[in-house]
Amino acid sequence: MKNDHDTLQRFLFEHTAIRGNIVNLTNTLQLALNKQHLPTGLKQALGELMAASALLTATLKMNGSLILQLQSKGILKLLVVECNATFGIRATAKWSGDVKDDQTLFDLLEHGQFVITLDPKDGGQTYQGIVPLEGENISAMLENYMLRSEQIDTRIWLCYDGNSAAGMLLQKLPEASHQEINHEHHEYDDAWNRICHLAETIRDKELLDLPTETILKRLFHEEDVRLFEASNTQFFCSCSRTSVASMLRMLGQDEINSILEEQGKIEVNCDFCNAHYRFDPVDAAQLLASDTSTKLNSNVH
Ligand SMILES: [Zn+2]
Repeated sequence: MKNDHDTLQRFLFEHTAIRGNIVNLTNTLQLALNKQHLPTGLKQALGELMAASALLTATLKMNGSLILQLQSKGILKLLVVECNATFGIRATAKWSGDVKDDQTLFDLLEHGQFVITLDPKDGGQTYQGIVPLEGENISAMLENYMLRSEQIDTRIWLCYDGNSAAGMLLQKLPEASHQEINHEHHEYDDAWNRICHLAETIRDKELLDLPTETILKRLFHEEDVRLFEASNTQFFCSCSRTSVASMLRMLGQDEINSILEEQGKIEVNCDFCNAHYRFDPVDAAQLLASDTSTKLNSNVH
């Protein structure tokens, strides 16, 4: 049986306003996480958050990046996952102190916040939403966010087995945008409840191991499901020497000079992909000399 590693596949339920998608991340996950020395519990959390980022990106009509962040004052400081419009994904974590292998994400959080950022990358307005962390797992947290902040009914299933992360999303589009579907209100809710109820029977192992088409047949064999062509996911880090240089320019001449005096060079490591960037005093002088266009282009990641 063909598996669907590193794909995202959208589907919809005909004659309803319910849509969904299923994602599997395998190479994408391993390339993103294996260069970092992450505790097991954080790998799981990042894997699930990566799957979630692809699921949510697939529901957006936007040509930029979706960034999901968990921030906390506990042992865990930060989890960041970024997914672009072509499902290029990167992820990293910051924590302080020891994280034991059996500690899970929610053991490590204190006064947690969830931050969701939509960065259009084409000069459009950046959107950011910040909410307290609520829910006992990442999918519950995201479902709460979607309902409270976006008023969109969303169900999300996420899983991770050390090799792969996978996920499924179901979403009920707001009725106002579907006037052409001339349903009675209760029929509309009935379909949503029935489909969510069927979806509840999904097991982690099925989501991780089976092709999307098989999953949909098993869960919804009496429903009229239209499956769209799969998109590929991949690990992608947007860092570059140019973006690091722009970031250094924003530190300003004094700061750059003081680092050079102390260390003789400036070294920057990308937290996401572990790429190493080194600027000697000559590079730094060039960098400061080309300071003209940077104020316009301060949107550096
Ligand atoms: Zn990088």
